[in-house]
Amino acid sequence: MNEIRKENVKGLKPIATTKDWKLLYFQHGRPGLEESISYKGLCSHCEIRDICSIVKPKTGIWRCRYYQARTTQKTNLYENVIKQLDHTVEAIHFDKDICEILARTMNELVVHFPVRMDDGRVKVLTGYRVQHNNALGPFKGGLRFHPMVDIDEVRALATLMTWKTALVNIPFGGAKGGIQLDPADFTPEELERITRRFTFALGNNIGPEYDIPAPDVNTNPKIMAWILDTYMSTMTPNERNRCLHVVTGKPLEAGGSQGRNKATGQGIVFLIEKWAHDRGFKLRGASYIVQGFGNVGSWAARLMKQHGSKLVAVEDITGAIRNKEGIDADNLTSYVKTRGGVQGYPKAEPINHVEFFSTRADIFIPAALENQITGDTAEILNIRLVAEGANGPTEPEGDKVLQRRNIDVIPDILCNAGGVIVSYFEWLQNKRSEFWEEEEIDNKLRKIIISAYERVCAAAEKYKVDMRTAAQIVAISRLEMVYKERGIFP
Ligand code: NAD
Repeated sequence: MNEIRKENVKGLKPIATTKDWKLLYFQHGRPGLEESISYKGLCSHCEIRDICSIVKPKTGIWRCRYYQARTTQKTNLYENVIKQLDHTVEAIHFDKDICEILARTMNELVVHFPVRMDDGRVKVLTGYRVQHNNALGPFKGGLRFHPMVDIDEVRALATLMTWKTALVNIPFGGAKGGIQLDPADFTPEELERITRRFTFALGNNIGPEYDIPAPDVNTNPKIMAWILDTYMSTMTPNERNRCLHVVTGKPLEAGGSQGRNKATGQGIVFLIEKWAHDRGFKLRGASYIVQGFGNVGSWAARLMKQHGSKLVAVEDITGAIRNKEGIDADNLTSYVKTRGGVQGYPKAEPINHVEFFSTRADIFIPAALENQITGDTAEILNIRLVAEGANGPTEPEGDKVLQRRNIDVIPDILCNAGGVIVSYFEWLQNKRSEFWEEEEIDNKLRKIIISAYERVCAAAEKYKVDMRTAAQIVAISRLEMVYKERGIFP
C-alpha cells in the first residue's frame, strides 16, 4: 500500500490514520450515510488520485465511492458484485487496465419526472438507467419497478448483465434500469402514464441499436408494449417501424417472440437437467423449493413439474407455504394470478421464512430478489443444488457457507441467462421481420446455455475455482480479448 501524503482538507476534520490503509481520513456529514469520510490520496480499489468519498459500512470494509455501501438496512448488492470481481481478478490476474474499465459503469442516468395521478395531483418519480459496458454490442438489460430501486442496485444489476451477455456469447453489453416505486400504490392507468413519461425522459438514451430494455421485477410484456409505443411515437413516420427492437419481452401481438415469457425459467430448467445428467441424478421424484413465484419462479416451477419433480415449498412477498406431498405448480400459478401471491393457498400449510429455508429438498431455485442466501440462511438450507434464477441472490458470506457445505451452485449470470438469450432472438426476429417457431427457439436456447455451462465447468476445473468465479472468468476473458484486439481510443 502506498504511503499517502497527509493533507488538510478545508472543512474536514482528520480523525484517524489506519494501520492498513495508511491514509488520513476526514469525517464529514453526508445525509443518508451512517458514516462517511473523504480523503485525499490513492485509493487501492479505484485509484482515484483525488478527494474521494469513502464509507465504512457495518461490515467494516472500507470502500471508495465506486464501491460505496448503503448504510441502510439493505445489503449493498453493488458492493457484493465488486467484491466478487476483486475475487475473480485475484484468482486469474486479468489485465489491470481492463479490470479498471470493468469496475465502473460507463453511463449513469437519473431522471426525476412528473406524472399526473388519477386524483389530479402531480407526483414526481425517480427513474434510473445505468449502462455498464457496450464493448460487445448494444447495452441490454431489464427495467425494474420496486421501492428499493436505487443507483447502487441498478449499477450492480447492469454490471451483472455485462458478465451475463459476455458469458453466453451474445452480441450485447450490460445495462439495467428501474423506477423507485411500489406498483401496488398505483392504478393501471397511473402505471401506464409513469411508464410512458419515464420512456420519454430516457429519450435517445435508449434505442434499438444502442440500449434495449426488457422486463424485470414487477414489469411485464404490457409495460414493454407501452415503452415501444411511446418510443415509436417520438420517431418520424419513416422511422417508426424500424424500431420494433427498442425493447424485448413484448407481447406476441406487439412484436414479441415465442418462448420469451418462459425463457428465463426454461434456461434454468435446461441447466438443472444438465447438472442432473452429469451427476447421474434422477429428476423424476426429486424435490425442489422456489422463492419468488413471478415470471421466473413460476415458469421454472412449471417446467420442473414436466420432469416429474415435486415442488414442496414456495415463498413470495406475501408469505411461504409447504406441502411435502407436492404443490401443483400450474394450479398455484392460477391461484397467484387471481390472489396476487401464495398466501392462503388452500392445498398447502403456511410456514415462516426460517421453515421455508430449512425445508428438505434436492433443489432450491431462488427467483425473487437479491441477498436472500446470507451466511445464516445458507446454514439452514437442506438441499444439494442452488439454481440461481434471481440476480445476486447469494451474499458472499452465504457463498462461503454453500461451498463449505458442498452445496452445488449454478450462478446467476449463467443460470438466469435464458431471458436475455431469447431477448436476443426477439431482437433478431424484429430486425429481420421474421417469426421463429417455439421449438426452434427452445433448441437454440438450449444449445447456447448448455455450451456456456460447459465453458464454465471447464474453467472451474482448469483454475480450480468455484462455479461463480469460473463463470466470471469466462465472461471477463471474453471482454479482455475484445479490448485487447480493439485497443482503447484514441
Ligand atoms: P416478478 O416481479 O415477476 O416476480 C418477483 C417475485 O418475487 C414475486 O413472486 C414476488 O412476490 C417475489 N418477492 C419479491 N420480494 C420478495 C421477498 N422479499 N421475499 C420473497 N419473495 C419476494 O420478477 P421476475 O421477472 O420473476 O424476476 C425475479 C428475479 O429474476 C429478479 O432477481 C430478476 O432480476 C431475475 N431475472 C428476471 C428475468 C426475466 O426475464 N424476468 C431474467 C433474468 C433474471
